[in-house]
Amino acid sequence: MTIPVIAIHGGAGTITRASLTAEDEARYHQALADIVAAGQAVLNAGGSALEAVTEAVRLLEDCPLFNAGHGAVYTSEGKHELDACVMNGTDLASGAVACVTNLRNPVLAARTVMEHSEHVLLVGPAAESFAARHGAVTVEPGYFHTDARHEQWLRVRGQSGMMLDHDAAAFTFKESAHGTAPVDPIDPDNKFGTVGAVALDMHGNVAAATSTGGITNKQAGRVGDTPLIGAGCYAANATAAISATGTGEVFIRTVAAYDVAARMAYAGATLQEAMEQVVMQVLPAYEGRGGLIAVDAQGNLELSFNTEGMYRGYARGGDTPVTAIYK
Ligand code: ASP
Repeated sequence: MTIPVIAIHGGAGTITRASLTAEDEARYHQALADIVAAGQAVLNAGGSALEAVTEAVRLLEDCPLFNAGHGAVYTSEGKHELDACVMNGTDLASGAVACVTNLRNPVLAARTVMEHSEHVLLVGPAAESFAARHGAVTVEPGYFHTDARHEQWLRVRGQSGMMLDHDAAAFTFKESAHGTAPVDPIDPDNKFGTVGAVALDMHGNVAAATSTGGITNKQAGRVGDTPLIGAGCYAANATAAISATGTGEVFIRTVAAYDVAARMAYAGATLQEAMEQVVMQVLPAYEGRGGLIAVDAQGNLELSFNTEGMYRGYARGGDTPVTAIYK
């Protein structure tokens, strides 16, 4: 029997330690630890990696501290458009939704697409009605609102006006010094807030799930890496389960999550080598910032990022969850 492993992330970005009270930091650690423990409980009860990552991401979506579900960022039109994906390493089964606006838990809708449709990716209103027909909980747009994300959007919007998504992402980096003091330990103007989970279960199977509100002030209709298999999410028992957060356009162009798996499959790289190459060499070569978490079927675990911080946590077997924010 394999010792199960679960890891989660809640976004990566630039650190502003000075703006952080010990209390704020403790809230993040507590949320991460609780969510790791919930995923761990699923695995230790004999549940599948797929069940564990779905549950962990569902909880991350419900937590207002993270940019997914409740707490998602605003589009340039002042709305929320959410993307999510799940993938099962056993048989490469996968499901995803993009640009959904009224589903409380996009990750559950992604799972519904995987289990109840013949497709992998459904988008927009059709994805919403499909998920609702299969029992998804729908919410009013106001459900996703948090004051912190709204203020963040007002700051960026006022400075950037209309902007291509990729420029908007870069812009937030440049302007971060002018933002008002964040309550978030990672500067919200400089943070990628996607959430994700990867797991290895007792039966030796891996799975991954990723969910996001995207990038603040993104153009309406923009789809990032998160719901795209191989870009923001990938899982195969033969290689690894991988979940991403960062400048989505670069993760799409470099097929970042699959690149990790491909390096293992074709070049014989270890998980650690493949992650190091993708996060520290491939992504930075195209100004890609962010991180990846991954676990392979042997229980090797990597949480890598090229930013100053990434919200993250993990646990093996019955061990106490470990959480971290900074390098
Ligand atoms: N990768 C996400 C996207 O581009 C953003 C993030 O990680 O926060 O939509």
